Amino acid sequence: MEDKGIPKEQIYQMLRKYKEKDLTHRSGRILGSMCTCPHPVGIRAYSMFLESNLGDPGLFPGTKAMEDEVITMLGGLLGKNNVHGHIITGGTEANLMAMRAARNMRRIKDPEIIVPRSAHFSFKKAADMLCLDLKMAELDENYRMDLSSVEKLISDNTVAIVGVAGTTELGKIDPIEDISKICMEKDIYLHVDAAFGGYSIPFLKEAGYDLPEFDFTLPGVSSITIDPHKMGLAPIPTGGILFRERKYLEAMAIETPYLTEDLQSTIVGTRTGAATAATWALLKHLGKEGYREVATSCMEITYKLAEGVKEAGFELVTEPELNIVPFYSPDIPVKEIARRLEAKGWAVSLASYPQAIRVIVMPHLKEEHIDSFLEDLRTIKGIN
Ligand SMILES: *Cc1c(COP(=O)(O)O)cnc(C)c1O
Repeated sequence: MEDKGIPKEQIYQMLRKYKEKDLTHRSGRILGSMCTCPHPVGIRAYSMFLESNLGDPGLFPGTKAMEDEVITMLGGLLGKNNVHGHIITGGTEANLMAMRAARNMRRIKDPEIIVPRSAHFSFKKAADMLCLDLKMAELDENYRMDLSSVEKLISDNTVAIVGVAGTTELGKIDPIEDISKICMEKDIYLHVDAAFGGYSIPFLKEAGYDLPEFDFTLPGVSSITIDPHKMGLAPIPTGGILFRERKYLEAMAIETPYLTEDLQSTIVGTRTGAATAATWALLKHLGKEGYREVATSCMEITYKLAEGVKEAGFELVTEPELNIVPFYSPDIPVKEIARRLEAKGWAVSLASYPQAIRVIVMPHLKEEHIDSFLEDLRTIKGIN
């Protein structure tokens, strides 16, 4: 660190140098991320609330009021107006909170959770941090959580079952309705991880897509993760956790001696209010119509990409249910396809089960990007 400060213009110049090294979503080259260009209205709202700390909400009652409204709006989107929750850093923290609530509700020795094999790795972190035994349920032939596998894994020590609405690798929706029935019957906590699908499934259903129930309309669902910083177009870090009842938040409340609130249920202490402001602004500004448009445009480009991938001689792991296209080639190893795509300037990512290239058709991917990607895919196959 220098003793004498550097003038700000010079600092900005230096910052630009670093920024030039980063990829941008706008370039259309990022194919394997669930994040996207934040919406300008979200950016403006975010920057207006940079000093707001929801870890000390008595100082920021305006931001706190927005958080309450956001939770109610997201609850309404997910089948229940009267829900309880927080805007936090992302899906990982949301899943941690849900698992912590479920564990604390029971407070038994040797607690276990059941997640599908397709679950996000955040549940491994949760299991490690919360001392939970992680049981992995198998998937059925459509890569959805297999119910008979779940039933076999249930024991007296099961404190939670997790279903995913929009899996991270393939965009699949688990049979939450059936899992909800099992959880009701056995009185087990059910958490739905809709970090990716939460901002698109409800809007796609409104637009006439035939997608299954996954939210609080199912009586067994105790909590839902939904990430505004994915399909919600909010700047990162913005996640959401919603609980059906207040008792789940209370189950992990810790006394806070020196703050303006007496009890705190979130994992982090100081917590930005900017994420809440951005989420609030975007829900109000885009409305259902705006988000319907975002979700359906992504699906149209998804179908176009899926067709093009097949025409280029590749195979789909599964037909897209949400805006993810996973594919492979019978004659070129997946890692080799990835290497060749990277050499052509594409930032791709791999699905691990089954092994595939996975393209997440986020709102920053436009038709022209897909066209030039398909051209490169054909070249890799020697079709051009
Ligand atoms: C992205 C994702 C997460 C993790 O969210 P972060 O915001 O990256 O912490 C959890 N679950 C699912 C299904 C996801 O797609």
